[in-house]
Amino acid sequence: MAISENEIAQVRSATDIVALISETVALKRTGQRWTGLCPFHGEKTPSFSVNAEEGRYYCFGCRASGDQITWVRETQHLDFMDALRQLADRAGIELHEDANAGPERKERQEAMVAMDRAVAWYHERLLSSPDARPARDYLRSRGISGDVARQFHLGWAPDEWDGLAKSLNLNEKVLSATGLGFVNKRDRRQDALRARVIFPIFDPSGKAIAVGGRILPTSGNQEPRSDGRVEPKYKNSPETPIYSKRRTLYALNFAKDDIIKSGEIIVCEGYTDVIAFFTAGLPRAVATCGTALGEDHFRIMRNFAKRIVLAYDADSAGQSAAASVYQWERQHEVDVAVAKLPKGTDPAELAQRDPAALRLAIEQAVPFLRFRLDRVLEGANLTTAEGRARAAEAAMDVLAEHPSELVRDQYIQDLVGRLGLDQNMLRARVRDLAKSPREHGVREIPNEPAPRRPAKSPMPRPGLEALRLIVHGPVAMKERFIAPYFLNEVQRDIFEALSTNQRANDLIDEFERRGEEEEALVLSELVVEELDRSFDVTAVVAQLIRAAVRAERKNLNRDMLEGRISPELAGAMDRDVEERVQLLETDQGGAAENDLRKWLLERASLTSS
Ligand SMILES: [Zn+2]
Repeated sequence: MAISENEIAQVRSATDIVALISETVALKRTGQRWTGLCPFHGEKTPSFSVNAEEGRYYCFGCRASGDQITWVRETQHLDFMDALRQLADRAGIELHEDANAGPERKERQEAMVAMDRAVAWYHERLLSSPDARPARDYLRSRGISGDVARQFHLGWAPDEWDGLAKSLNLNEKVLSATGLGFVNKRDRRQDALRARVIFPIFDPSGKAIAVGGRILPTSGNQEPRSDGRVEPKYKNSPETPIYSKRRTLYALNFAKDDIIKSGEIIVCEGYTDVIAFFTAGLPRAVATCGTALGEDHFRIMRNFAKRIVLAYDADSAGQSAAASVYQWERQHEVDVAVAKLPKGTDPAELAQRDPAALRLAIEQAVPFLRFRLDRVLEGANLTTAEGRARAAEAAMDVLAEHPSELVRDQYIQDLVGRLGLDQNMLRARVRDLAKSPREHGVREIPNEPAPRRPAKSPMPRPGLEALRLIVHGPVAMKERFIAPYFLNEVQRDIFEALSTNQRANDLIDEFERRGEEEEALVLSELVVEELDRSFDVTAVVAQLIRAAVRAERKNLNRDMLEGRISPELAGAMDRDVEERVQLLETDQGGAAENDLRKWLLERASLTSS
């Protein structure tokens, strides 16, 4: 498929790379660049760097690097064209592809537009339609005011067969691409959701991608249908080309800012719980959408916050697959805590009755393992020896699931205190249990390997300094340097490329095309780095010259031994050069620098001819 270089460049320059990456990674401004935790490898201190001007990112840890298109490709596992199309859509640029190209893209685009219109239509119905009164009453009874309904774009799907499909004139293709409806057996369009309160689901950038619908507690559609089935309380969009449940967190678009600010993300079970947290003054809650909390959710969350608080109702919190939670904690370097809500309450109820208690529960959330152990012990009868033994057995099963012996050990000491049992015995039992992992469903998942890139090879520092000056310094800076100053081949390649006055970005592309990966990576790194304003170009030049001269004197010696130059000439030249190198220290008017520069250029032309 042919797309002109011109259009590709247009898409790149229309895409603010900082805004793009900020959708999934918390970036902080430090000087000229933006830094954050690398999404491509696990890390605790940020080594991921973005240069807004050049439109490039680079990780000093795993060397992940690229531009806007690479970013979309690598984070969403798309091919070049799909990534380009997505960015073009975002920027409102029309790509001139072959007429029959990209039907999926067109379908996606149509689906996004239809979803956006549907959300607005549902919302309008909720706010102003007389038939939405019961919905408004229900929301108000749950503490959701008109303002909050507006903030979350809540809606109302009327009790009609095809209200939405007809009003927006959605065709069969769009209905199925969005999951908003279908064509029934009588060949008529039918809405997927009717007589339900609508909770629109957005992607992190705030684009509507799906809807969830809740029936009203009093509505007639809780009655068994003609086929005997009862309508489920919640009904969500199915998986569609624009919506993947396991990669979506409800309200992340609204919660993002506070999550980054607080370093904490609250995960609850439903839309109304999320909204309750917002109204209780904790606008950093999200929910999974009709699926259990999974690996992909962790991958998304850990880019925003390191502390994850599960705020499920008291009964379901302990049920999360413990073994997986511990693995994800380790793998993504996050801490999972559990908020202890009073028995029989969910966040939505608590927020309405006692918002302070809800905030306190989040503040006092305990580590996941602590929570599970407490539950075992709370349910046990510790007044008899048999009761204590049973509690110990159950507690040890829970403990053994944790992969770290260090962590287990801390809890064992606590158990010893609470159960009055022998420490060594407990420790030995837990160790045995932990060793037979299959029983407990613990499976070692190795840390996800970072995308494979060549390891950094050591680079002479003055050469890198010089290239950094050339990339970031004033244009005239380039003049001070010549290719023979760069003894390292990769550095010389980069210098020569930069001498063509092309944009660094284009040069990186060019290196990649030629398979010169190291050059591409080193230049990527340089581009996102910052120039130390106190740089001393003369000192850098002098260092380079000294090293270059040292190397060249060896060549001179070799030439003499091989008879290409007379010993007299070689000797004179050597003394002369040596003298000038000494002068570099106190180079008046740059005469020594200039002479040595000439000499190195001459020598270079000799060896190349
Ligand atoms: Zn990295």
